[in-house]
Amino acid sequence: MEFINKTIKELSKKDKREVLSDCFSRIKEVEPKLHAFVTVLSGLEEVDRKDNPKSILNGIPVGIKDVLCTRNLRTTASAKMLDGFTPPYNATVVKKLKDAGAIIVGKNNCDAWAHGASTENSDYGVTPNPWDLERVSGGSSGGSAAAVAAGEVPYSIGTDTGGSIRQPASFCGVVGLKPTYGRVSRYGLIAMASSLDCPGPITHTVEDAAIVLNVIAGKDEKDATTSDSQVLDYTKDLNKDIKGLKIGVPKEYFGLGLFDEVGEVFKKSLETFEKMGAEVVNITLPHTEYGVATYYIIQTAEVSSNLGRYDGVKYGFSAKDSKDLIDSYFKTRDEGFGDEAKRRIMLGTYVLSSGYYDAYYLKAAKVRRLIHDDFVKAFEKVDIILTPTAPTPAFKIGEKADPVSMYMADVFTAPVSLAGLPAISVPAGFSADKLPVGIQIVGPHFEENKILNVAHMFEKEAANADWRKNKVAV
Ligand code: GLN
Repeated sequence: MEFINKTIKELSKKDKREVLSDCFSRIKEVEPKLHAFVTVLSGLEEVDRKDNPKSILNGIPVGIKDVLCTRNLRTTASAKMLDGFTPPYNATVVKKLKDAGAIIVGKNNCDAWAHGASTENSDYGVTPNPWDLERVSGGSSGGSAAAVAAGEVPYSIGTDTGGSIRQPASFCGVVGLKPTYGRVSRYGLIAMASSLDCPGPITHTVEDAAIVLNVIAGKDEKDATTSDSQVLDYTKDLNKDIKGLKIGVPKEYFGLGLFDEVGEVFKKSLETFEKMGAEVVNITLPHTEYGVATYYIIQTAEVSSNLGRYDGVKYGFSAKDSKDLIDSYFKTRDEGFGDEAKRRIMLGTYVLSSGYYDAYYLKAAKVRRLIHDDFVKAFEKVDIILTPTAPTPAFKIGEKADPVSMYMADVFTAPVSLAGLPAISVPAGFSADKLPVGIQIVGPHFEENKILNVAHMFEKEAANADWRKNKVAV
C-alpha cells in the first residue's frame, strides 16, 4: 500500500493494521538519516490505544512534539534536564487525540525547551531538512515538520510560541497551523512562555489541519486561559468562494531581511489570489520593527520563571556528588541546561529584576499592546493578512552561530504570536535551490475557519503547479 504522503482523510479509508505497519517501516527506513524522533515505539505491540470508530483519526498514526506530556511514555523536551522523566499524565491535547483513537508512534525532536528556530539546540542532535540533509528543518518543531514532510507520519502536533509551527512547516514544505492563543489547551505542555504557547497541527493538507483542530480545540478546565468561545466545525467553510476577499499585505514586511527568492514566491502567490478574485490591499503594521525585541523580552521573562522549577529534585536529571542541597541545585542547573536555556534565563531574570523591570518588561508589555492594536486596526479594513512565513528558506546546519541572527528567523511570525492571532503556513513554491517556501495567512482572533478557507482555496488553485512535483531527499 502507498503510505508516504497520504493524508489523514485518505488513510482513514484504509486498513489500519496495514497503515500502522507501513508507518513503522517508513520510520525505520528514514530515521537513521532524519532523526525526527527522540523516542519511537518499536511496533504495534507497544502501542497503547483506544478504539473510536466514530472519529476520522481512529487508527491513524501521529507524532507528538516531545514537549507535550504523554503518560508512561518518556518526555524530554529534547533537554538533558529531563533525562529519565516519564509523565504520570497526558497533556489535554494528547488525551483528546487518544480518545479519538489516534495512535502515538513516537515523540518528535525539537530545540531543547522549544528554544530555537532550527532544532540545533536539541540535546539529542539535530533533525536535518528532508529536502536537503545539509540544511536545518527549522524549529523549534523541526522534528514534527520533518517527520510529516518525509512521510513518516501523516500528521504531527507541534507547539508555537513565536513561530515554531509555522517556520518549520515553511522550511519543510508542509502545512502548519498556529491556532488563536487559548483555542487549544496548554495543560501538560512543558511551558516555554505561558502567555504565547499554542499547540497545533502539522499536516500535508489544509483540510487535514482542520480535521485535527476539530479534535484538539476547546475549553479545558485545566487551563484557565482556554476560551469558551464556540468551537466550530473547521472543515465546513473550506470551499467557500474567496471572490472579493480583501487581503492585507503589510508594507513593513519587505525590509526585514527578506530574501529575494522568498519575495518572488510571495509575489506569485499574490497573483494567484488575484486570479481567484481576491483584492490585494496595502496595509501598515507600524510597530512591526519592534516585534522581535518585544518578543525576546516577554518570552525570556516567562522562560526564566518557567524554568525555575527544574532543581534536580522533582523532575528528571539530578547532578551527582553534590555537597549539600544548594550545591545540588547549582550543579544540576549548570549541567542540565544548555547554552540557549541559560542565555534566556539570564536575559529573563535581568528584564524582570528590580530597577530594570519598568525599563524592559513593562515597556515590552506596552509595545505588545501596540502590536496587537496594529493588527486589530488592520482587520477593520481587510479580511486576512498575508505575509511570507519566514524571511529565508531553510539555512545550512551551523550557519547561524550568532543567536541574534537565529532570532531573526521569527521576524514575521513573532508579532502574530504577541497579538495572540491564528495563522497558518502553507507551501507556496520553491527557491532556486529546490527548497520549500511557505506563505503565512493571519486572521482575526478565533477565526481559524477563515484562514483555513483561504489556505485551502490557495492550495487547490496551486495543486497542479510545477513545484508540486518536487520530491524529498529521503
Ligand atoms: N524561534 C523562536 C524562539 O526561539 C520561537 C520558538 C517557539 O515558537 N517555540 O523563541
